[in-house]
Amino acid sequence: YPVTTDMRTLTAEIEKFAKDKKIEIDTLKIREEYRKDFLGNVSHELKTPLFTVQGYIETLLDGAIDDKNVRKKYLIRANKAVDRLIYIVKDLDLITKLEVGDLNLEKKSFNIIELIQSVFDFLEMKAAKKNITLTFDTVYPKPIFVYADKEKIQQVLTNLLVNSIKYGNENGTTEVSVENLVKNKIIVRVTDNGEGIPAVHIPRLFERFYRVDQSGSRREGGSGLGLAIVKHIIEAHGEKIYVESAVEVGSEFSFTLEKSSVQIEEVQ
Ligand code: ADP
Repeated sequence: YPVTTDMRTLTAEIEKFAKDKKIEIDTLKIREEYRKDFLGNVSHELKTPLFTVQGYIETLLDGAIDDKNVRKKYLIRANKAVDRLIYIVKDLDLITKLEVGDLNLEKKSFNIIELIQSVFDFLEMKAAKKNITLTFDTVYPKPIFVYADKEKIQQVLTNLLVNSIKYGNENGTTEVSVENLVKNKIIVRVTDNGEGIPAVHIPRLFERFYRVDQSGSRREGGSGLGLAIVKHIIEAHGEKIYVESAVEVGSEFSFTLEKSSVQIEEVQ
């Protein structure tokens, strides 16, 4: 891409570039818009935690470093902001790979029930902080084997469950269910009884950086990429994702997966 800030020169350069490479100009313009939009969003997301780290370092340098207790408190806070930066950068890396189709799926047969249980265990503490209960819709869920990329599906489940906790009410519940859909498909549902999503926002929910409540969800610490990542992963599998939600009732995110013909976990 040509690098320039003058819009007229930029357009002329793009047109020449497109002619040389015989690329459709419209496609290129859309790509350019998309790139600018993406970069704008990225810098916006990174600014807040970066300024936070800078603020603490400056305060320490201004003298706070001499007080042992304050020093520790500020370093812990700066470290938290760095954790947040790393989290955002990791999500950015993943979404970029997913968007350019640069991510190979490593499909194998595995028990989805066991995977859900391990994500529950991983998020237990986070849920406990809001006294949210994570449950299966049956007491003793039987093993169900699917054929998919286990690590990526773990990411999908984690993102959906983290959201159900973030946007769930104190003392609420998130329930996961797995059901047969058609002969070779299952559907996984993640249902919460949290704040819900107003209908106007539903069509744009899976766009990267789209948020219902800008300040609220940023305070909750997300990257704004969680659902975009989920959608890409599910679609890369050739599967479908659905959402149903009602304000003050709750939300249900569901996705389909291919059942495995093998009833054991494959090792690769
Ligand atoms: P974020 O990092 O902001 O959580 P996501 O892509 O994961 O980004 O979600 C996009 C937006 O969708 C959130 O900011 C939130 O407004 C809304 N959202 C996602 N999941 C839920 C849910 N379970 N309940 C209510 N709102 C939700």
